[in-house]
Amino acid sequence: MIYSYSAISSFESCPLKFKLAYIDRIKPPRRSIEMFLGSRVHEALEKLYRDKLFGKLLSLEELLEFYNERWRREMSDTIFVAKEYDAENYRIMGQRYLVDYYNTYKPFDEGRTIALEKRVFFPLNDKYWVSGIIDRITEVDGVYEVHDYKTSLYLPTRKEIEEDCQLALYAIALDHLYGVKDIELVWHFLAFNKEIRLRKPSYEDAREEVIKRIEKIEEARKRNDFPPRESSLCPYCSYRPLCPLFKHEYRLEEMEPEEALHEGGFTLVNKYWELSQKIAELEEEREKIRKKLVEYARKNEVQYVYGSDRVANIKIYHNIHFKDKVVVESILRKEGLYDKYAKIDLIKVANDIKNETLPKHVIEKLKKFMEHKENIKIYLRSMEREE
Ligand code: SF4
Repeated sequence: MIYSYSAISSFESCPLKFKLAYIDRIKPPRRSIEMFLGSRVHEALEKLYRDKLFGKLLSLEELLEFYNERWRREMSDTIFVAKEYDAENYRIMGQRYLVDYYNTYKPFDEGRTIALEKRVFFPLNDKYWVSGIIDRITEVDGVYEVHDYKTSLYLPTRKEIEEDCQLALYAIALDHLYGVKDIELVWHFLAFNKEIRLRKPSYEDAREEVIKRIEKIEEARKRNDFPPRESSLCPYCSYRPLCPLFKHEYRLEEMEPEEALHEGGFTLVNKYWELSQKIAELEEEREKIRKKLVEYARKNEVQYVYGSDRVANIKIYHNIHFKDKVVVESILRKEGLYDKYAKIDLIKVANDIKNETLPKHVIEKLKKFMEHKENIKIYLRSMEREE
């Protein structure tokens, strides 16, 4: 498999999304307005620089006309808006990005444009290849610049920029394609009309980092282990209707209200919640009675308290509690008694086997003493959590 940077970062944010998009090659049932906005702004800026290559400088009005025309033509019902704004708010936002960009950079003749929307394909080592698309490559006084337009509403810190592998990878691609070493990375954060530049003598550390990330993906592929990973990105995920975390919600939405009220899962959750509440109330009640029983036993100096079917045996006794676990451990170690009282943490061992952080030969030795058991837990949570 050839990896694109977007695939690698998609795995980092959610392994399931990676599987759906890049292994199963399933087309997302819908697209977020943020992605749509990003595509429209990118193609408008590409048009601006491509026309410039042909000696034509677009006026701001022409640029916006192109953007709005494409917006209208490409807009469809499958584009969804997750927030309380509507598509029109986003169109205006994109327009503002272009106006700010145009006014900041006109007449767009800083350096020579080498390529626009350039698809690159290059080896990381003798095993892995990476592909990607560079928004714009420019040469300024012999220095190659990799330009990338970001339309998100998040402005990263300098540290985050320095740790970002995407443009560093593209620098490696340029070295591979053109044999150039002097490369500057330029991020355009359009929502803030802000440009951030980074120039390093070498971008090789990104190569190592990305190889590590690919190896993690390869391990997941061997185990076919692509769990959904819920995060703040889920509301914008194009795969929600296919994701096990959200597809039931979509199924209900597609039903008539009356039908949804009697749907199997819907009624079971309601019943489960109702019973859980009753149990919680009963447990609270039982705790109150327990306290009263202890009080009764103390006051009347009895250990057995008799009911009609059951006798309550109320044992009141004292245990030793240690205030400082670390001190106890250290004393027992010094006295050579630690092993006698130490308890193995099998949950941690099992987790380390799952995460493959135990040495492989140890896992092999443990394998014949292991068995896989299915665990089922049900947590009930409020529907408001995603808001
Ligand atoms: S909705 Fe969230 S958990 Fe589900 S596939 Fe998308 S990102 Fe992953």
